[in-house]
Amino acid sequence: MSKPAKGDMKTDGAQLKTTKATKATKAKPGAKANDAIATVRQRFLVSADALAALVDKLAAAGTPAVAPAWTADGTTDATDATVAATARETEYRSVSGAAELALGERLPRLSLKQYFLPPTEVLFSYRRNGGGEVELTPAPTDFAAQVVLGARPCDTAALPIVDKVMNWDYADELWNARRAATTIFSLACGVEDDSCFCSAVFLDPATAQGADGLLTPVDDGYLVETLSDKGDAFAAAHPESFAALAAGTDKAATEQAERFRAAAGERVAGHLTLDHERLRNWLENHFDDPFWATLGLRCNGCGVCASVCPTCHCFDIVDEPESVGRGVRRRNWDTCQTCVFTLHASGHNPRADQNARYRQRIEHKFHVYPFKFGDVLCTGCGRCSRACPTSQDLAEILAAINAKAAGESAAPDKAGKASKAAKGADAAPTTGADS
Ligand code: SF4
Ligand code: SF4
Repeated sequence: MSKPAKGDMKTDGAQLKTTKATKATKAKPGAKANDAIATVRQRFLVSADALAALVDKLAAAGTPAVAPAWTADGTTDATDATVAATARETEYRSVSGAAELALGERLPRLSLKQYFLPPTEVLFSYRRNGGGEVELTPAPTDFAAQVVLGARPCDTAALPIVDKVMNWDYADELWNARRAATTIFSLACGVEDDSCFCSAVFLDPATAQGADGLLTPVDDGYLVETLSDKGDAFAAAHPESFAALAAGTDKAATEQAERFRAAAGERVAGHLTLDHERLRNWLENHFDDPFWATLGLRCNGCGVCASVCPTCHCFDIVDEPESVGRGVRRRNWDTCQTCVFTLHASGHNPRADQNARYRQRIEHKFHVYPFKFGDVLCTGCGRCSRACPTSQDLAEILAAINAKAAGESAAPDKAGKASKAAKGADAAPTTGADS
């Protein structure tokens, strides 16, 4: 695989476009550019009552929507000092009624990832039939249709990013089948906090990337814009909820929605600015930088950051005997942050300390994945920073690297010179490994 010119790096994201002329665009490094421009197909005004009625109707029909909902146990996030102790958390789950909805509230604890890559799942079952014959039964991939309502754009945007590795050297049938069976309406975000930095990774609080439709709060409920065939089909299946905008109302509602989205975008844009080309160059040339030790020292290797992350996608595969001669092969979420992730059977571990393991997290997301797939493996949702028990703050870390890189760019002679050849496969994005 030849290395692309630096200016050829694509970026994440999808902007809303209101004409039929959709065109894939090639992004410029460091610009807020998008590799796909979502075309708005139809606009509807959906009142809050109509949306609630739709959620109730789906639940009554036995096809409940997945949506942000108050956690069933009412737990609070004790690690977040900015949130009152009584504030309840939200989570994505199948809601049995509109009363459970928590639209536009705090970011759900876990991302949408679990609906496409469950924490654990069977890949196939096996049975020894005697005579050395083994019968394999693949896990079914005929998933029932599901709809997600009110997802955070930073969660929805992660899905097409992960699609790329799930269809790279092997088409992951389980992932792809769930993706195909799911229709997603995301909700433009207006409740960012200090950990959010979506705009620093080519997205914004109302990115349409990965969504079949986008809801934006307006006075009378939500402006709903469909963005795909699946989005159109869902709207057509529920005409009582999706009221077409009357002439004149269209302009007013659209303008109000655009003001909402622009204001949120401006707020988040102030959180972090990254020069991705510079960042990649610094990562490529500082494999042995002392900075990694300062991060490794603070990381306890718990892996929470990967579990909550919408883009982390690593899994381990194990065979689980269930009885004599039969069992299942299962995959389970795994993470490069634990000490056993790269432990060889010989006892050798190529990532021998937490410095190397944390470096891997940053390298993979901001250097290797962009090199291989053109996308940054991060949507700036900030979950890893909020959830980290040792207060490892990704936005702060990226800002620090960015500042180091900017300083070295001003004084190129002081740049680290570690050669890629001396670093091993970890730092070489030309290897076949995704991570
Ligand atoms: S959540 Fe924090 S402590 Fe745990 S592995 Fe991630 S960075 Fe390290
Ligand atoms: S790395 Fe952190 S900020 Fe980026 S997508 Fe994952 S959880 Fe969100």
